[in-house]
Amino acid sequence: MKSKQRSFKGGYIFGRFENQPKDIVSEQGMPELAVIPLSQGFGSEAAPLVKKGDKVEAGQIIGRSDSVISSPVHASVSGVVEEIKSVSYFRRDTRMVYIRADKSKKDYRRLDGYAKDWRKLKVEDIERLLYSSGVSSLDREGIPTRFKSSIIAPNDVENIIVHGIGSEPYNISLDVLLSGKKLLNFIEGLRILNVLMPNAKMYLALNGRKIKLAEEICKITTKHAWLKVITLEPKYPQGYDEMLVPTILGKKFPFGYSAANIGVVVLNIQAVISVYEAVCEGKPLIERIIALCGPGLKEALHINTRVGTPLSDILDSRLRQGVKTRVVLNSLLTGEKLTDFFLPVDRTFSQIVALPDNDRREFLSFVRPGLRRQSYSRTFLSSLLPSFDKIADTNVHGEARPCISCNYCDEACPVQIMPHLLYKYVKSNLIDERLMNYQIFHCIECGLCSFVCPSKIPLARHMKEGKDKLVMQGCDKSQCILPYFDLKGIEEYRGAKEA
Ligand code: SF4
Ligand code: SF4
Repeated sequence: MKSKQRSFKGGYIFGRFENQPKDIVSEQGMPELAVIPLSQGFGSEAAPLVKKGDKVEAGQIIGRSDSVISSPVHASVSGVVEEIKSVSYFRRDTRMVYIRADKSKKDYRRLDGYAKDWRKLKVEDIERLLYSSGVSSLDREGIPTRFKSSIIAPNDVENIIVHGIGSEPYNISLDVLLSGKKLLNFIEGLRILNVLMPNAKMYLALNGRKIKLAEEICKITTKHAWLKVITLEPKYPQGYDEMLVPTILGKKFPFGYSAANIGVVVLNIQAVISVYEAVCEGKPLIERIIALCGPGLKEALHINTRVGTPLSDILDSRLRQGVKTRVVLNSLLTGEKLTDFFLPVDRTFSQIVALPDNDRREFLSFVRPGLRRQSYSRTFLSSLLPSFDKIADTNVHGEARPCISCNYCDEACPVQIMPHLLYKYVKSNLIDERLMNYQIFHCIECGLCSFVCPSKIPLARHMKEGKDKLVMQGCDKSQCILPYFDLKGIEEYRGAKEA
């Protein structure tokens, strides 16, 4: 294990916010009505294979499109298809399969051909299991197989980075994901990936506060040169591909493109556990562990829930009563606001954060030492004060004010651009080559500039607006790619065939 913690310039290590999820997992139970999006995770929407009135079994494939990059979708409960209709899901029209559950049937259909001793399987069988389980759709670029599950082929992958950094204010707990037997399953999942992508070096990047866990993994994998375990400072946004790749591989990242474009597959811990479960237990991707976090909840903990469970089933009894709450998906800084609780959880959910709405104006909030407020500006006084869990609400750092040129946003920006300057151009509608020259396309939309700004200017929103306007004007972001990048991608993809 490398003991020196690598890092990057900029970024920010958050304090501990209130109502972190406890290290317990509560079983959510089966929903009355499962709502299964036919588009989940990486790739295109699958075509429905069932119709209204059909009886389905949990684990049965109900949507699949082998001819485009996608992964099969499964019924997460046994029951009867009540309806298939298109609804707006995360701003995209997506077909949903509504299944009325038969709650007496709790088991699920296992995948054909799985093996507890996966070493007996051929590589093509492993690829088929990963594809037909839906696991190949996980994370930002999917897992490459001989099917159309990613933009690159397994043999083209040069590096695999598995990460459990936890640099967000709220994170799913590594102790929950890797407790007891699950740690051994996780390591088997890593070994399976190592066989699947034989030309790739494998790195496991863990939170630097989890030294004991890193040491335990090193002890178990001690004779295996294929795995390098690295601990990293939990500095936000270290978990982003654009930060992980340069930090771990010392390799530049072509901003605006994906890790797969440079032969890197980035996966999280839960994805690797799902790899093990698909190949060794025949389990399709019908369940997720989700961390429920934040002071808008009566109790913060983890749940194990079936995919397709409506948010109302999960949140109605758990949200604090009488408190106006904003619910966001996966990230306090960049998460999508969840408003329609009839919509379901899918394979991409890992955290649900509930924040009390706070639109109160606070007198001189920006000069407070940060006793209960997360404050980017550290004063000598604040270092002498005791540390408390920080307040998390929708007004995390004070009321809107004009820019005071403090440069906090420039300092914190992990890609070293100048948000305050770019913001001024975009706000004045000066959408031209100046934005390109100041590298607006390098912005990874991490939201940190907005978070640290004492004037509460929504800088990240302006960065996105500037990029969108440039693209609308016909500007080509590939001009930002340095000429030595040999981008991999769908054009180079060979060997896709029917499952
Ligand atoms: S949102 Fe963009 S500009 Fe703001 S800190 Fe993140 S990368 Fe930098
Ligand atoms: S952090 Fe806010 S106030 Fe400070 S320079 Fe940036 S935009 Fe201006």
